[in-house]
Amino acid sequence: MTPLVYVLEEQVRDLLSQMGDVHLLDGVAYGFDDWTVFHAYTGKPSSTPAGFTCPCVATRSDATGFIDEEKLMEQVRGHIDPDGRPIVVLVAGTDTRGSPSCRALILTGKGVAGADTRFVPRRSELFTRNTGLLEVSALADKKVVIVGLGSGGSPIALELARAGIGHFTLMDFDRLELGNISRHVCGVNDLGRYKTLAVRDQMLQKNPYADVSTLEINVNQSLSQVEDAVAACDLLIVASDNDQSRFNLNQISLNNNKVALYGRAITRAAGGDVLRVRPWKGPCYNCVFSSGLIDGREEEMSQKRQALAVLPAYIEEGKINTMIQVGLSSDIAPIANMMVKMALVELSRGIETGMSTVDEDLASDFYVWANRREEAYANWPRMGFKWTHPSILRWYGARIDRDPDCLVCGGHLEETPAT
Ligand SMILES: [Zn+2]
Repeated sequence: MTPLVYVLEEQVRDLLSQMGDVHLLDGVAYGFDDWTVFHAYTGKPSSTPAGFTCPCVATRSDATGFIDEEKLMEQVRGHIDPDGRPIVVLVAGTDTRGSPSCRALILTGKGVAGADTRFVPRRSELFTRNTGLLEVSALADKKVVIVGLGSGGSPIALELARAGIGHFTLMDFDRLELGNISRHVCGVNDLGRYKTLAVRDQMLQKNPYADVSTLEINVNQSLSQVEDAVAACDLLIVASDNDQSRFNLNQISLNNNKVALYGRAITRAAGGDVLRVRPWKGPCYNCVFSSGLIDGREEEMSQKRQALAVLPAYIEEGKINTMIQVGLSSDIAPIANMMVKMALVELSRGIETGMSTVDEDLASDFYVWANRREEAYANWPRMGFKWTHPSILRWYGARIDRDPDCLVCGGHLEETPAT
């Protein structure tokens, strides 16, 4: 087959907009399937792609469309790798309508072969299939902070990148371990990496134009950095695995008047819950989780660090390991999915979109989900054919009001915070 080369349209436009002489630039390409498919970059790519690397040189034709191909090949030929890796040569130009175009050539020890090129389109065209349900151009300007990039936070980050959200700050100080792989969006290729950076790379695969910054911090120890990021965001998403971080983030979201979404799985992911905090308009995290209303819903323990936080120091290793009881990735997925829907509703607020009716439905601030009839749901009836009784695999919105005596948000029961 004729080799196929994918190029970011934005990079070709950049190349064409540069003034002055034509220079060969140091790019890199990634080859797949016996060097028949290439992803070529005119410079260092923003994420870490897969494939075998090979050199890529990029240049542009002059104003008349001319390129001295022979001279170019002569310059490149000296760089042919003795182990047989090809060199991808990109020649940027414009077509008869003045639109950017790009030719690609594959140079190996055996000679030069032409290749078909395809553009990875610009941002505006990448998400055209989302229009109607989402206001793509408005979402590209939105900024989301996500705390916790584990099995709950990582799929949320990826989904929001898919939806075309433009700006993200990811916070987590954990690295990807073998035990995480079965429930995480990242795989064995990312073992040992910070979850933030590995997830960022996955997000950039879905939206190469997303602006994703990362903070490898313990939010409980870096509150001023968290405060700065939250102050600048449109929505805070909390998928961390400890109460202290959620209480801290609750205070910070209230201080900055930012809507926050909290999600968690209960023991062995038998179910989970999602809380939306609209500062001063609904219950805050403390109103709900200090009320006793949801006692008996113990959080899932999926990390050794969580077990160590609640166990005495002298406990033996075996006991720690028996406390770590995780559910399946498919048990976490509904909770992450609900948080994505609620995030898109919040980020689309004030814009007429297909999400508007979902907003009308999500009248509650607190939702409960059950995966299996165990733990908090042990006494629930079987699902059967009725829909008039509680059952697994359905969402339930609970009416929980602000607590006038809440130690965090009580005392300002007016619509806006007291100053
Ligand atoms: Zn409160």
